[in-house]
Amino acid sequence: MRIRGLHKSYGALQVLRGVDLSAPRGHVVALIGSSGSGKSTLLRCCNLLEISQQGEITIEGEPVRWTSAGPGRQPADRAQVRRLRTNLAMVFQQFNLWSHMTILQNVMEAPVTVLRQNPAAVEARARALLAKVGIGDKADAWPAQLSGGQQQRAAIARALCMEPRALLFDEPTSALDPELQQEVVKVIKDLAAEHRTMILVTHDMRLAADVSDHVLFLHQGRVEEEGPPDQIFRAPRTDRLRQFLSATM
Ligand code: ADP
Ligand code: MG
Repeated sequence: MRIRGLHKSYGALQVLRGVDLSAPRGHVVALIGSSGSGKSTLLRCCNLLEISQQGEITIEGEPVRWTSAGPGRQPADRAQVRRLRTNLAMVFQQFNLWSHMTILQNVMEAPVTVLRQNPAAVEARARALLAKVGIGDKADAWPAQLSGGQQQRAAIARALCMEPRALLFDEPTSALDPELQQEVVKVIKDLAAEHRTMILVTHDMRLAADVSDHVLFLHQGRVEEEGPPDQIFRAPRTDRLRQFLSATM
């Protein structure tokens, strides 16, 4: 995925002010920055949950097509939007499991109803993914019966069941107690070791340092500094990044 010169405003509030981001296939890009710096907005613009007003988004060499240049633009090709969204699965801070469905049903829902895949094949894949994230025995449980860490692992299995080309994580461990964060961290590390393409927004600097190939530090809607994790965490160049790190680490 490649993003060039992305701008996003809400009314007079300029949230993204010319952001560039490259996430090569098989790489993990970590997005760090203070609350309100635009991290979630950037992720949501990537998969067109939010419509940016300016800038280019290219996925696997295919640029998103827009109706017009400038502020009122919309994606021009609905089939492209659908394809792009199913190829970029998102995992949210608050898990967002459907409470009226079992864990297995949650994981199977989108591949069966959106991708119209064969339910028996999807079920086999879903069960294997639940086992992979360590909750194979929870397939028939309801979300409310699971701990936060288990719910988040179910949400990751649900994202993986779409067989996406990339995963977008928005603070996947922030809503969890410290001891439950580690079970989710382990799953994310396993995915990184498999060379999944991921963009990871996180407050967890250790996680960012451990799994990412590249780190972007966002400040007030701009990339203030970026580089490999060694450089970002051990030899930050800007005062803003140094201040941010000393406040969070
Ligand atoms: P982060 O994820 O880095 O904490 P966000 O992308 O959520 O930051 O928010 C960046 C800024 O955009 C904040 O000032 C936030 O209040 C504002 N913002 C986010 N979403 C909306 C929205 N739907 N409407 C208006 N303002 C928004
Ligand atoms: Mg956010």
